[in-house]
Amino acid sequence: MQRSRLDGQIYDVIVCGAGCAGSAAAWGAAKAGARTLLLERLGFAGGTPVAGMIHTLDAVVSCADSNQVVVGGFATSLLDELRDLGGLGTSDNPGEVVSFHPEYMKVAIDRLLTHAGAVTLYRAPVVGVLMQDSRVVGVEAALMDGRAHFSASCVVDATGDAEIAHYSGARWQQSEELQAITYHFRLGNVARGWDWKMLEDAAQKAMHGSGMRYGGPWVIRLNEYEVSINSTRVIGNPLDPEERTRLEQNAREDMLTIYNVLRQKVPALADSYILAGATDLHVRESRKIEGVYTLTEEDIWSRRSFEDKIALGAWPIDIHPTNGFVGVHPHKESPPDPYEIPYRCLVPRSVDGLLVAGRPISTTHRAHGSTRVPGTSLATGHAAGVAAAIAARGGIAPRKMDTSILQQSLREQGAILSPDAAVAR
Ligand SMILES: Cc1cc2nc3c(=O)[nH]c(=O)nc-3n(C[C@H](O)[C@H](O)[C@H](O)COP(=O)(O)OP(=O)(O)OC[C@H]3O[C@@H](n4cnc5c(N)ncnc54)[C@H](O)[C@@H]3O)c2cc1C
Repeated sequence: MQRSRLDGQIYDVIVCGAGCAGSAAAWGAAKAGARTLLLERLGFAGGTPVAGMIHTLDAVVSCADSNQVVVGGFATSLLDELRDLGGLGTSDNPGEVVSFHPEYMKVAIDRLLTHAGAVTLYRAPVVGVLMQDSRVVGVEAALMDGRAHFSASCVVDATGDAEIAHYSGARWQQSEELQAITYHFRLGNVARGWDWKMLEDAAQKAMHGSGMRYGGPWVIRLNEYEVSINSTRVIGNPLDPEERTRLEQNAREDMLTIYNVLRQKVPALADSYILAGATDLHVRESRKIEGVYTLTEEDIWSRRSFEDKIALGAWPIDIHPTNGFVGVHPHKESPPDPYEIPYRCLVPRSVDGLLVAGRPISTTHRAHGSTRVPGTSLATGHAAGVAAAIAARGGIAPRKMDTSILQQSLREQGAILSPDAAVAR
């Protein structure tokens, strides 16, 4: 097999996946002094909010009080960079929605990672792990010029689907009732004079009684002439290769059907056109690792305090139904107050040398409905990156982490770890 010229490189920390969690992890690890490699299968960073065309960073501010910022550290630097670039979205969206322009987001993350000193490789899918007994000691990536083995003291799985944990043999769970999957699309040439609320109300009215499966529609306003539509809803197992293909195909068909309904029934969209569909069909829920601790819905509602807290969650239990329900499912009516997430949710129970961040951290199906969103993924990613750097520096297993040292390092990097530390927007 052809080997890459980069084959055999050694790092302190390798982060797999440059989505919300992975970008934050690589930034945190590099800033903590670790030689850090970030591997991403696509040609840009940002993950689902960018490639999946969501274009918002929910749960960076509390859904219960949108004036309360609950994720700091990398998220703060990212929003500052976006603001400087002019890449933050209009304020004509609900208060809890932090929207952005995807192309500016790609540049903002590149700049932050370069400045922090992380090495990034795009078009670098991770296809396997290097193991010593039950310890992950590196990964294999398929690069443009051939395969490469990269070694590291600690690996962070930020692939969204816990792919690295899966390759390593770590135990994971997949709920029987997975959340519905959506293919976002963007419309251009939206008529002027319609604010976000008018557009969303009209779109929801238009889809009512259409006889097809759909959610929302939820409308994110990107600028005066462009909106992102969150509405298609396909159901199936995203990890089955054949089913995944069918899901992608069906979602694109549904996009056209929904667009045609909206174009015919919403006057503001009569002359609109499809600017683009998402690069990637992403999923709301797939694997969740079996961690040393599993966060529950009860922990969220009781705002349980954890000795090893490393991040805050702040989004409702938002589960997109698969039972035929269409339109807007109830979820934002009573969002939880910000709640703590413990480090142990990032530590796989059965494998060492590995931390898992973002969507697949160890939670129940219901708790995952809240923790899965980008803001919380930024926070758990940041924590995983700093923890990996500390583990690499000290030559210790992530599960043996002194979490008071981790918390101190995270706070030094601006992370917010407890509800009383949340700051005004
Ligand atoms: C359809 C949909 C709609 C959503 N809507 C909203 C919304 O409106 N508001 C909101 O706030 N949140 C929304 N979310 C949730 C949110 O976007 C994601 O759950 C969140 O981005 C998860 O972050 P992550 O970093 O764990 O994963 P991701 O952002 O998905 O990042 C994973 C990254 O890993 C890369 N990767 C995967 N496998 C490999 C590999 N083997 N090697 C290298 N790289 C790899 C991927 O390319 C990607 O860049 C939505 C999610 C979906 C799917």
